[in-house]
This record gives sequence, structure tokens and C-alpha cells, in this order.
Amino acid sequence: MIFALPETSPAEPLDPSLAGGRLTIDLGALVANWRDLGARAPGAECAAVVKADGYGLGIEPVVGALSGAGCRTFFVALPSEGARARAVAPHAAIYVLNGLFEGAAPFFAAHRLRPVLGSTDEIAEWSAFRSAQGGDLPAAIHVDTGMNRLGLSLAEAAELSGDAAALAASGAVLLVSHFACADAPEHPLNALQLARFAAVRELFPTLPASLANSAGIFLDKAAHHDLLRPGIALYGGSAVAGSSNPMRAVVTLEARIMLVRDVPAGDGVGYSAVWQAPRDSRIAIISVGYADGFLRAAGSQTGRAGAAAAVEGHLAPIVGRVSMDLIALDVTDLPADLAQRSAFAELFGPNVPIDRTAARAGTIGYEFLTSLGTRFRRVFIGP
Ligand SMILES: *Cc1c(COP(=O)(O)O)cnc(C)c1O
Repeated sequence: MIFALPETSPAEPLDPSLAGGRLTIDLGALVANWRDLGARAPGAECAAVVKADGYGLGIEPVVGALSGAGCRTFFVALPSEGARARAVAPHAAIYVLNGLFEGAAPFFAAHRLRPVLGSTDEIAEWSAFRSAQGGDLPAAIHVDTGMNRLGLSLAEAAELSGDAAALAASGAVLLVSHFACADAPEHPLNALQLARFAAVRELFPTLPASLANSAGIFLDKAAHHDLLRPGIALYGGSAVAGSSNPMRAVVTLEARIMLVRDVPAGDGVGYSAVWQAPRDSRIAIISVGYADGFLRAAGSQTGRAGAAAAVEGHLAPIVGRVSMDLIALDVTDLPADLAQRSAFAELFGPNVPIDRTAARAGTIGYEFLTSLGTRFRRVFIGP
């Protein structure tokens, strides 16, 4: 099944022939990645982290595809994201990682969202709301094991665990912590966090536990516990820095070639002329830029390579600065008939791993995905 998303500006749907770029999202590959990750931790349930609009791909199609495949638990960052996930997954458990926003308990209840309670203030507010409201309002308890971001301190966790009435009042049904360094398997903080989490679990022996993000799934099975929380690996990104990536590519970004021009040796290309042609060159200009979320840092200058695109599988380096709406590619070495007006160049996808592009821009695949703009034609394939 191939279908196009309701387009970016509802007032004026985007005619496919008028879009500069095409973003193809393979929901079949997404589902395959979810199954693959789950199979790496038999015995654990595999949830899906769909915050930031499903890592930029669109929360509704992502949640729809995964819940259709049997995923029963989702994690978002914000309550508004939770409400969007709820609309497509009426029966799923939906946790809000950033915690309980002050005064938002009624919104959480209305959409049956479960706050991941990250401080004693949040626990107090949620517990008070629960006792006033009555009914089944589950939550997770987040305990910090070394990241120093969200979560109770170990001392606060110990105090809560010693107060059975307070624990019951919180509605806790899940114990959560988060790795700071799982993308670097040898980092000593991983072992320390695992040891601390083991101690925390002993304080809450009845609660199922969740620690592993994508990279945590690739640590040993001691990191798996009861519930996996992969994000980036679902979307085909590399979870573990510097290792080969076993996930299937989910996202392909292509941009339309507007024209191909001859540039004589020595001429500059683009803003500030920071790249000068080292030889007589053929340069293709494509209709995507940083306003589409293709980060400006992926550009190049003479003496410093940037990212590359691919035309029919042939790599063509980005030359010069990424502009707001346009990028220049050096297609001099490509067969002449490939780079032509109206052909599409792949900016990332099966031929151009997003993590390689991100590395060339000094960032990570996560930032490219979550920056994806609204001017593309989005095409969803499968599952
Ligand atoms: C974002 C996030 C995840 C998912 O992390 P990935 O590295 O994308 O797999 C899991 N847990 C928490 C608390 C997060 O913030």
C-alpha cells in the first residue's frame, strides 16, 4: 500500500509535482526493526519511543504501523504527543517521559497517559490527583542512576520504597531509568548504572523494570530487564557509535535536480564561495536546503569535505554551503545521463546512511531526523 500523508499546510495541500523533496518512509522496515529489536531480548516486551513526532517521521503513521504489528506500549516526551498517539492507539499504554507537567494531571487522565514521575514534587501532585479522582491512573517511577537529568535520587527512591502507602498512592506500575552512555559500550558508567539499577529494583521488587534504550539493547542481556525502550534503532539509525548498523533503513530523503551547470576550474560555488572548483566541473543544483531541516553544517569548503548525496547509487559530494532552499552537488564523475533536470538525488537512505551524513555535519542521525521539515512530499510505504 502506498499513500501520501495529509500534507503540510492543510489549507493548501502540496501537489507532488510541486515539492522540492520527497521523503519516503518505509513502515514495513520500521515494523521489521521493531521485531528485530524485540527478538534480541527474548522474554522482554519491546515498546517504542515515538517522541518528537516519531523522530520526525510522523507520530500517527508510526504508532499506527507499530500497534498494528502488536506493539502495546509507547513512550512520548510531551503530553501533547501522548494525546496524538492515543488517537491512533486506543488500547496502548502510553508513557510521557518528561514527566508530569504542573497542573496537567487532568489532561493525562483524559487521554489515559501515564506520567513517568521524575521528582518527589511530581509524585506528590499525581498522588493527590489520584486520591481526589479515584480510578485507575497508572504511572512510572523514574530513578536516576547516573545521568543526572530526570528521576528521583537513590536516596529519594529508598525513602519512597519504605513507604508502602505512598508507593501505592502514586499508582506506580513501572520502574524506569535511562542510560547516559550506552552508545559507548565500554564506558564505565554503563556498569555503574546497571549496578545501581539492580539495587533500585530490589527496593521495588514488585515493579517491572525498564532501562534499555536502543543502544542498551545491544549491551549484554543484563541490560534488558522487562521492557525495552528503543527509539533511534526503530527508525534505522545507528545506536552504537562506530559499529556496523544492523537495522534496516526506514527513511529516504530525495531532492529534485533543478539544473546541471558547468563550472570552470577556480570558480566558487554558492554563498561566500567557500568551495572553488579544483577542475572544470559539472554541478547539479537540488531543491532542498536548511529550511527543510537538512543541516547547514553538512556543507563543504575547499579543503574540508562535507556530506554526499547519491544519484542512482553514484555518490556526488555536496559542494559549498547548504543554502536555505538549495544544495550544490559535484556530479563531474557521474555518468552524464544520470544527473539531469528532474532526476532525484538521495540525501540519505539505502545508499547514503543518515549517520554518515550526520557525522559529516558534526552531529548525530537523531538531529537530522527530528529536524526534517514540512516542505517535503511525504510518502509512506507499507507495512
Ligand atoms: C529518547 C529516549 C529513549 C530512546 O532512546 P534511543 O537512543 O533513541 O533508543 C529511551 N528512553 C528515554 C528516557 C529517552 O529519553
